[in-house]
Amino acid sequence: MSRKMVAGNWKMNTSPAEGTALASGIIQQSNPEVPVVFGVPAIQLLNIQKLVSEQDHFFVAAQNMHQVDSGAFTGEISAPMLAEAGIDYVILGHSERREYFGETDELIGEKVRKAIEYGIKPIYCCGEKLDIREAGNHEEHVGTQLQTALFDLSAEQFAQVVIAYEPVWAIGTGKTASPEQAQAMHAHLRSLIANKFGAEIAEATTILYGGSVKPANAQELFSQPDVDGGLVGGASLKVTDFANIIAAI
Ligand code: PEP
Repeated sequence: MSRKMVAGNWKMNTSPAEGTALASGIIQQSNPEVPVVFGVPAIQLLNIQKLVSEQDHFFVAAQNMHQVDSGAFTGEISAPMLAEAGIDYVILGHSERREYFGETDELIGEKVRKAIEYGIKPIYCCGEKLDIREAGNHEEHVGTQLQTALFDLSAEQFAQVVIAYEPVWAIGTGKTASPEQAQAMHAHLRSLIANKFGAEIAEATTILYGGSVKPANAQELFSQPDVDGGLVGGASLKVTDFANIIAAI
């Protein structure tokens, strides 16, 4: 089975009307052979899910989720709610959630487990800040993130997870990791996964790159052997740009 995938993260952008127009435009301009995921604001989950439900390769992701089923957690959304709404994916541990909402790998690991329990595939985000890369500790840092959040899972549970390597210094900055930098980290993560869960699961794991992916750099990034596609922020908000990124996979 192919590991390839393209996911967009709209973040806190687009009104419901704008989101519907954006997703419709991308669907019209694209003919993907791999899964394409729209990570949409919570208020648009049902609208966009309805839109993609008649499409073969398009799916919807929530951008966050709480780690328990229900309760007094004002403003939160739970896995059973997403599951009943037919949502297939949830982005977890994005660097903005870590930075602005204090999410730790322990917490993200709880969310990952809860999503899997309800049949929702987590897109687990990891990545280092600039000072860690400059100190040469990026592989160790991202490896520890992965191990802390995900290596308590069973192999069967882990097989449901999509990894997104997103160097924080490349998110929304216009700076992209070079194809070689992305490939080196992806190969490192795949080897950690192989050591923990076995070669077969490692070979089947989708590892996306995120950080200023654009139509101009997508093809070169996606052609690296361990880069299975992208998690795209800014460029996922423009119909033609995102359609071109989909076409690059
Ligand atoms: C992101 O937020 O996941 C992201 C990769 O953003 P951008 O593509 O804008 O750098």
